[in-house]
Amino acid sequence: MTLILDGKATAKALRQEIAGRVAIFRQKSGIQPCLAAVLVGDDPASQVYVRNKERACHEVGMVSRLIRMPVTTTQDELLQQITGLNQDAAVSGILVQLPLPAGLDSQRILDSILPLKDVDAFHPENVGLLVQDRPRFLPCTPHGVLQILKAYDISTQGKHVVVIGRSEIVGKPMAMLLVQKNGPLGAKYANATVTIGHSRSQELAQHIRQADIVVAAVGQPKMITGDMIKPGAVVIDVGINRIQTGLVGDVDYESAFPIASAITPVPGGIGPLTVAMLLENTLKAAILQSNTTPVVD
Ligand code: NDP
Repeated sequence: MTLILDGKATAKALRQEIAGRVAIFRQKSGIQPCLAAVLVGDDPASQVYVRNKERACHEVGMVSRLIRMPVTTTQDELLQQITGLNQDAAVSGILVQLPLPAGLDSQRILDSILPLKDVDAFHPENVGLLVQDRPRFLPCTPHGVLQILKAYDISTQGKHVVVIGRSEIVGKPMAMLLVQKNGPLGAKYANATVTIGHSRSQELAQHIRQADIVVAAVGQPKMITGDMIKPGAVVIDVGINRIQTGLVGDVDYESAFPIASAITPVPGGIGPLTVAMLLENTLKAAILQSNTTPVVD
């Protein structure tokens, strides 16, 4: 019987837990954590993502501030906006919704966010800390993957995990977290033997077939099919692809479901967890910027 890993329910439980810690922090410090989201242009998917993040902030007792900028925004205007948010003591965390319109240098923009407010954990300082197994902020999507594994008591220790995708946002930090010795959620959710696949990998299906746990973060609808999966493997589908019939993952759910022992659906899998982990980082950012005794470990 294949287990469906319910990201929606797991994220809801995590949000409730975060809301409790936000309330304690507000009582102790008098500070209400605030997430500032910068949305440049009018990409419909980005608008939906930002709205979801705003709603989630309110649900856990945080302030959300949305800064909308036109598609014609210049690099300097955006940098100026971020400088203002960096200096604004009422703002705990800053996110710039990606992708940015053509002509804007995402790397330079992301690098300009104050590392203590970098709740997406993209700044090189935060990436460096993560690589050294002493993270300040955990990257939201990979953290969400670890959280769902933990919620269902699926250990990664000693397991062979194949991560498909090597982006800075998902694949690379995912692999980095999985390979760590101690790991932010404990050794049980680290210590994996990790293979990273990408577009230049040869015989990718053969690698995937060796995996105890598959993490797909490719951005190719239904690319990973049931015949590529080892019977009984755990399948984590990070992909969100919009096709004519709606949203689908990078895994072909129908053919993978009967082969896997556990699988995340799309939607309702890793997406909601990513947002919950953003809230976690925003609370942590608020705590780090205050002098209050931490209410997160
Ligand atoms: P990127 O496009 O940045 O990276 C995709 C990666 O997949 C690259 O490393 C690329 O390889 C690799 N790849 C592409 N095509 C193939 C192929 N045919 N075979 C093997 N590898 C391939 O995407 P992201 O990492 O940002 O996102 C991946 C997916 O996850 C997307 O569907 C995205 O929408 C989704 N996503 C979901 C989130 C959530 O909350 N659930 C959050 C963030 C992303 P190469 O490096 O060689 O080009």
